[in-house]
Amino acid sequence: MPELIEEFKRILNARKAAGKETLWLSEQNRTLLKAAVPAKRAVVSPPRQQAPSATKAPVFPEQAASPLPLQPTDPAISVSHCDWEELQQAMLNCQACPLAQGRHSVVCGNGCPQARLMFIGEGPGEEEDKQGIAFVGRAGQMLTNMILAMGFDRNSNNPDNAVFIANIVKCRPPGNRNPLEQEANACLPYLRRQIELVKPQIIVLLGAVALHFLLGKTGISKCRGTWLDYQGIPVMPTFHPAYLLRFESQKGLFISEKRKVWNDLQQVMSRMKQSSPSS
Ligand code: URA
Repeated sequence: MPELIEEFKRILNARKAAGKETLWLSEQNRTLLKAAVPAKRAVVSPPRQQAPSATKAPVFPEQAASPLPLQPTDPAISVSHCDWEELQQAMLNCQACPLAQGRHSVVCGNGCPQARLMFIGEGPGEEEDKQGIAFVGRAGQMLTNMILAMGFDRNSNNPDNAVFIANIVKCRPPGNRNPLEQEANACLPYLRRQIELVKPQIIVLLGAVALHFLLGKTGISKCRGTWLDYQGIPVMPTFHPAYLLRFESQKGLFISEKRKVWNDLQQVMSRMKQSSPSS
């Protein structure tokens, strides 16, 4: 697979140009590369805790004897130690599920990496796929307004009022259908690592799909408005903005469903206030 070797080369060169001397590789990729490289040209992929002085710049095999089917990203095993840059690269290069074939963009997630509040949706729609940015279509505009009403700002870089917005899957499912189990499972390691890196104080789950795939729970109508937990982080599930938009032409319903979401978000705001650095 020469194109995959080229991809590795490209990543290595980009890191070198950025002054980075090492590249973290998954166990699987390490094994494949070792097998492809003659013994004297070892590929260095040190564990992150290793002292920098003990590491050498990675050497890429210019002429690997027989190119092996390298997988630049197999998220299930490769991203658990990534930093932001490595994680971003892994997502951009991901071919772990069939959604990769139909995408225009990988919608990695947007916002402040130190945000105290994180929103998790389902997956990119048409507009997100075009722009490569999460929640920029109609549902996105509604979410943006809700975030502003909460006193946060999706364009802020100040962790106190910033947010980070991500999705269960990073590539658009065709026709905006729900992600399949296989697609969500292939993509979840990226989200889990994003949560570990952001370390939000609170997560808001938007809709049934996010609830199902992150927490394994069904029944958004029953669960919304109740505090759940993801690895010690309080989680508030609420309705997805796209669900609210379905009722736009039925004023009464639209208002009552929106009110439920607003109540959920108010719970989030008061919990954020309790744990805010200035309280
Ligand atoms: N819906 C989602 O769940 N995520 C997006 O990014 C956009 C719409």
